[in-house]
Amino acid sequence: MSKKKFKTEVSQLLNLIIHSLYSHKEIFLRELISNASDALDKLKYLTLTEDAFKSLKFDPQITISFTAEGEKTLTITDTGIGMNAEDLDLQLGTIARSGTKNFLNNLSGDARKDASLIGQFGVGFYSAFMVADRIEVLTRKAGEDQAWLWESDGQNAYTVKEAQKDSFGTSITLHLNDEGAEYTSKWELESLIKKYSDHIAFPIFLEYDDTEYEGEGDDKKEKKVHKREQANKASALWKQPKSSLTDEEYNEFYKTISHDSEDPLLYLHTKAEGTLEYTTLFYVPKKAPFDMYQADYKPGVKLYVNRVFITDDEKELMPVYLRFLRGIIDSEDLPLNVSREILQQNRVLSSIRTASVKKVLAELKNLSENNPEKYNEFIEQYNRPLKEGLYSDYANRDTLLELVRFKSTEVEGYTSFAAYKERMKDDQKAIYYVTGDNEDTLRNSPLIEGYVKKGYEVLIMDDEVDEIVVPSIGKYKDTDLKSVNKSGTSDDLKTEKDKETEKKIKPVLKKIKDALGDRVKDVVLSSRLNDSPSCIVADENDPTVQMQQMLKAMGQSEIPEIVPILEVNADNEIVQKLADIKDEDLVKDISFMLLEQAMMVEGAELKQPAEFVKRLNRIMKMAL
Ligand code: ADP
Repeated sequence: MSKKKFKTEVSQLLNLIIHSLYSHKEIFLRELISNASDALDKLKYLTLTEDAFKSLKFDPQITISFTAEGEKTLTITDTGIGMNAEDLDLQLGTIARSGTKNFLNNLSGDARKDASLIGQFGVGFYSAFMVADRIEVLTRKAGEDQAWLWESDGQNAYTVKEAQKDSFGTSITLHLNDEGAEYTSKWELESLIKKYSDHIAFPIFLEYDDTEYEGEGDDKKEKKVHKREQANKASALWKQPKSSLTDEEYNEFYKTISHDSEDPLLYLHTKAEGTLEYTTLFYVPKKAPFDMYQADYKPGVKLYVNRVFITDDEKELMPVYLRFLRGIIDSEDLPLNVSREILQQNRVLSSIRTASVKKVLAELKNLSENNPEKYNEFIEQYNRPLKEGLYSDYANRDTLLELVRFKSTEVEGYTSFAAYKERMKDDQKAIYYVTGDNEDTLRNSPLIEGYVKKGYEVLIMDDEVDEIVVPSIGKYKDTDLKSVNKSGTSDDLKTEKDKETEKKIKPVLKKIKDALGDRVKDVVLSSRLNDSPSCIVADENDPTVQMQQMLKAMGQSEIPEIVPILEVNADNEIVQKLADIKDEDLVKDISFMLLEQAMMVEGAELKQPAEFVKRLNRIMKMAL
């Protein structure tokens, strides 16, 4: 026998579950049944595809039994794939899932908030420690002779020892604590199974001792009988006709496959008939999955072939940008023993994928038109992956362009490109946007002054992917998208008067350029500034300040030094007075101040802050 400590993250998680999921303790049963169903799925697949398992006597079922008298126990038994000693260590001693530590570090300590986070994380097996003070897992792996007993009180250690078990599969016995005492009633268990696991594809039997009475009157005799009854429909939900299913059934099924404790935001059930026959059932979780932004996220769509589970770990089933979807694809037209490599280039699957993406996007479009409030909830969670789609899914770009949303100078909340276009001024040539990493900075940026004054709306793009995605789009319908961070864009604002001013102000521009030397690419007259004396923009083909910062944050070390263009405001007093100043040192100080203040407003780092301070002090002294 070996006694082992749980990996730290398991202890941490156990603690958290016990304290934060308290009010939903009943979910433990759903989690254990869902694990049992997964184990049956895995073995079923082997018996159909692997010669070594084909002769195995496989009778897939889940049995739930309990003792209500004496020590209260609840046992969940499956005839599935089982575990060997190594599996037990790996699966029940650590949390194999990637990103766990990250996840735990992100918890706030506020029980209510954490409970909803933990719901999405999917607590699985460990949730059983909410209702049990000791758990035994007796298990034998299909194809192996040795059985094992895993045991733990959920504090910080577990033991694994050799054991006896006649058949393969797993039997999990919970020694119930006071919290769990209620789960030794046939009625309670039956109603939980109905609620949470009615559509698990395998039969779930409830086994219990009952008392029956025989005879009448004085002859009446009590008789103990052992009963075994099926408690669920055991029909794969996605194979049922839509009309026979209720929202509640869809939602509960979602919880069993996703481990989420909240209802989904929406579901989409499709049955395709014709050249290809398949069924898909997709769900959008209310909250973005916790690992959505991790490269090794776990995909949420399971593949079945004619109700036989094939895999839940295939990222190619759906495009990466739709990685938040949960659900099922069940195809009639795939061979059972499709290997991974074949899966990825399978023609049937790629047709299903193409059609499914179209369906999901159409459903979202529908939602955006008919239920803006709910669509807003969707956008709050998934705007960013949709933008990734704009970049990666060229075939659906037109639909995605209608689906993404942006902040704007004109409206509160979010707006679409379509709504922006409706609001465009008659003389307006393009859809303008400004990119950066801080909404406040952008809203107050001198870059947008001239546009706002003219009544042109500017989209505020403060999401780091905007900088990459939006320039790649180029146009919405036939209207150009233009970044106001770029130098050429403000030509759109130029008036006749500007052209005259340009001639007049030329000497001042030259004076500033001479003073700044190679710190700027050029010094030009701005058509966009109202109050601010100056701003910096990027040359048409250079990355912007924000882009450079993003590259730096992403760990890119060799960022080419980008020299900005300085735009100055001819109506500003400082700029006007500069024309008459002869003192070269002062011209230099003021020119540098014009550049540096513009950099600071954009959130760019000053190269020599000490020099800046010295200049500032010289100018203050003069002012005093
Ligand atoms: P999850 O189900 O999300 O992976 P769990 O903590 O519930 O997380 O389970 C961890 C792992 O333990 C499972 O992925 C599975 O490999 C294994 N496991 C749990 N229950 C069973 C079971 N009844 N039969 C076989 N393996 C199981």
